[in-house]
Amino acid sequence: MSTGQAGVGIQNFINGKFQNPILNNWIDNYCPANGEIYGKIPNSSHEDIEMAYLAAQEAFPAWSQTTLDERSRILIKISELLEANLQRFAEAESIDNGKPISLAKTVDIPRAASNFRFFANAITQFASESHESVGYNAINYTLRQPIGVVGCISPWNLPLYLFTWKIAPAIAAGNCVIAKPSEVTPVTAYLLGELCNEAGLPKGVLNIVHGLGNTTGQAIIEHPNIKAISFTGGTSTGAHIAKVAAPMFKKLSLELGGKNPNIIFADCDYEDMLSTTVRSSFANQGQICLCGSRIFVETTIYEKFKTDFVTKVKQLKVGHPSESATNIGALVSQPHLEKVLRYIEIAQEENGTILCGGTKVTIEGFENGYYLEPTVIEVTTDECTVNQDEIFGPVVTIMPFKTEEEVLEMANKVKYGLSATLWTNDLTRTMRMTQKLQSGIVWVNTWMLRDLRTPFGGVKASGIGREGGFEALRFFTEAKNVCIKY
Ligand code: NAD
Repeated sequence: MSTGQAGVGIQNFINGKFQNPILNNWIDNYCPANGEIYGKIPNSSHEDIEMAYLAAQEAFPAWSQTTLDERSRILIKISELLEANLQRFAEAESIDNGKPISLAKTVDIPRAASNFRFFANAITQFASESHESVGYNAINYTLRQPIGVVGCISPWNLPLYLFTWKIAPAIAAGNCVIAKPSEVTPVTAYLLGELCNEAGLPKGVLNIVHGLGNTTGQAIIEHPNIKAISFTGGTSTGAHIAKVAAPMFKKLSLELGGKNPNIIFADCDYEDMLSTTVRSSFANQGQICLCGSRIFVETTIYEKFKTDFVTKVKQLKVGHPSESATNIGALVSQPHLEKVLRYIEIAQEENGTILCGGTKVTIEGFENGYYLEPTVIEVTTDECTVNQDEIFGPVVTIMPFKTEEEVLEMANKVKYGLSATLWTNDLTRTMRMTQKLQSGIVWVNTWMLRDLRTPFGGVKASGIGREGGFEALRFFTEAKNVCIKY
């Protein structure tokens, strides 16, 4: 391994060794806080993926036969090492992604450590089912066998958090992995390789390759012997992966985009709702697939909410990610900033009113950083572009509603179905609405409260399959029924 300094000297981690890409192709890594190039990463090719595949294939027989206690022990060790390196990893994540250091330190890296700890324990409790076929003198039991070599591809918004949410269950279940982090945020994934060696993970069990989606990612999804792909990212990329994977019958888990409604009734606990809504709108610069980007407010409290919400949003401090007072850091990249700014223009072209924000922020000393004011847009129809497309930035829309039926229709009238948030103290309404909302997750009077045992995923264009808890272990294993007549 070369230097551990964030962004410098990133290499692939294949067969337990750090190495340069075979064809020696490299791409620049930008720092969102100042817009400068601060490192290079491999743009890995088919040749690198083949090398990773051969390492993984060789490691698989022994790893899949390793006792659960031993696998569990190694995963716990990785978790402990992540905790011991919290500051270093949090700084690296914040520099690479632009997120406030406070967020990286309290959410991203602790959650990555929890992912390994959680699946270290879950695998020891992952029991197979048995069924007695009464009247036939037969007993059925189900083997849950690892798949073999699997691919994990993750996005840039929660880099190590989502990367490890795939890797941990995959290796806990006895698979060997070829994993690709986003080319925009590769650093903490790179640093993870070093910890895996330190924890005693056998070589070849986890191979981390870097590069662009259409080269490195494409080589992973096209590889005929990588039998399953766990992907988190954009909906159009998910559709492309499904198309490539289908003729090879690869098993797929697709966690895709969202355009999540945040539905506020007048009978809610107002102060709690208000502060949580600020968080669910703008946490991580609004770059979380679960952010409540469409806010619907019951007419009777709409004007009050509008005033209070905008007041609070204006108090959020946009600043350098390493400043402890920063609430809103930098967006992840220049193209992403431009995309979000274009949506703000479209909103105005379609009669939306910018209640606050809407412009790029220049921070002294970091003039080329990708900073944007948190933006609230009042829209007149739920069918406008900014209310339908996933923007994935610090931009939310607000509009009033009169009835439960009306808001349900608007909430469900998008192509996505990842999460929904409902604010009400009416239990009967809660029961009615949670059943009718078209989404994989519904939060009632809270947001982003995650119990790692629960299934996670979306419906419609938000994805196929579920991650989390035993769902992830089911995905990363093949069920084999054995029927014995006695
Ligand atoms: P993206 O789809 O552009 O990229 C995601 C990953 O896929 C990256 O590693 C990228 O290199 C790779 N990739 C791109 N093209 C590929 C190809 N042809 N073959 C294989 N891999 C390829 O997404 P992004 O911009 O990195 O992330 C933002 C998106 O992710 C948003 O839509 C967001 O909603 C979504 N997301 C979803 C969840 C969820 O759990 N549902 C969580 C986080 C982010």
